[in-house]
Amino acid sequence: MDSSSDTAREAFRRLPAVEALLARPDLAGEVAELGRTVVRDACRRVLEAWRREVREGKADARAIEARLERGELLGAVRERLACERRAGLVRAINATGVVLHTGLGRAPVHPEVAAAMERAARSYAVLEVSRETGVRNRRDDRLAELLARATGAEAACAVNNCAAAVLLALNTLARGREVPVSRGELVEIGGSFRMPDVMERAGALLVEVGTTNRTRLEDYEAAIGERTGLLLKVHTSNFRVQGFVQSVDADVLAELGHTRGLPVVWDLGSGRLDPPGATALEALGDEVGVEAAVASGVDLVLFSGDKLLGAPQAGLLAGRAEAVAACRRNPLYRALRLDKVALAGLETTFELLLAGRGDELPARRMLLASPGEVAASAERIARALDALPGLSACVVEARSQPGSGAAPLVYLPTRAVAVDSQAHDPDALAAALRRAEPPVFARIAEDRLLLDPRTLLQGDEDDLVAAFGSLVRL
Ligand SMILES: *Cc1c(COP(=O)(O)O)cnc(C)c1O
Repeated sequence: MDSSSDTAREAFRRLPAVEALLARPDLAGEVAELGRTVVRDACRRVLEAWRREVREGKADARAIEARLERGELLGAVRERLACERRAGLVRAINATGVVLHTGLGRAPVHPEVAAAMERAARSYAVLEVSRETGVRNRRDDRLAELLARATGAEAACAVNNCAAAVLLALNTLARGREVPVSRGELVEIGGSFRMPDVMERAGALLVEVGTTNRTRLEDYEAAIGERTGLLLKVHTSNFRVQGFVQSVDADVLAELGHTRGLPVVWDLGSGRLDPPGATALEALGDEVGVEAAVASGVDLVLFSGDKLLGAPQAGLLAGRAEAVAACRRNPLYRALRLDKVALAGLETTFELLLAGRGDELPARRMLLASPGEVAASAERIARALDALPGLSACVVEARSQPGSGAAPLVYLPTRAVAVDSQAHDPDALAAALRRAEPPVFARIAEDRLLLDPRTLLQGDEDDLVAAFGSLVRL
């Protein structure tokens, strides 16, 4: 034995065993609150980390002894447990100004929608049975009816998200067959959704047509052969090609498909809907509307529930009865179907839209808010923060974004609060805010922390100011 392993052994001996640490009365409260398994795991990991330091020669017996005397072992366990309490899916305050922030759960739903979801979750529900006849039916029959009414489609159905809708449509209509797609539309939608990969998994054979910037009708015509299964159009949700560009409009593609006996599918993604009684989302520029997409004559239009529609997460398929029925017959439909909670939320969202209450949906309200409407909240927040010690805050002109790849070139003029802290640089301030209760997510621009009230919900303003208050006290 050399002397360094002697000292290590000496240091290890000072450390308690996991069970001894767990049994300490000062951790009884934590055990009661979080459970023995969780606290034991925290003890084990902290002890492991300390042992590692000893092994690596970063701490000897004397250092360990001193730390134990200062109560640092217990402190480290408590710190780990504090992280544990912060982990997971908790409410967050979105002050980024990105309305459909995928990292923060995209569209928050209307309170009546949330209430319907809660009721469905807590109780039995009329999910797959008719109240009139007692006969088994499809869980999305009612939603399909509402969706058809709202979009003008003949028929509709719903699955877990738009990626699932693409998978289902391609697998149903083009398994083992060729699918011509414009080279300008082979998109990647963040988080590993790449159209060529999804097509492959769906069993469809991608045939690239045209070029990155220009695709003509003749390109599709030339690609159609005996093995063609369908024609696919993909909305370039999160980017735009500008300049010398050309693409084939959906109605032209639909006509081509129908003269050749091929279904045409349009993956729209963002799902802009402008129902009667709602203010048109004109600020979103050329973002295609679902109603127009359906009216173009394509067989299926696919879009997300939780993007511009402002509903819970879902993938919606609207279009011709035959294509929808084929998708529903596919065994994959069972694997991709929605749960009762999401269905309750979607039904209620469409009921609100059809009742002319679309502008009440939080995501839509945020997208429509003028800089003037945001300004009042910005002023209040700036005043409150500026009054806190060590902080200075003022209202600045800034730009919010729709997010989730919808209308990528659109910026919504807004008023934001720029915050400077004496104690923190902008990154440190943002990190501290993320760890606050509830966590606050801000944006950094030009080396300043910006808070955009556009994306705040009722009650967020006070909690946001309180979060800064708690940082100042630290
Ligand atoms: C966002 C998007 C998808 C994926 O939608 P999810 O609902 O996130 O699964 C697919 N296609 C397009 C064109 C999109 O914009």
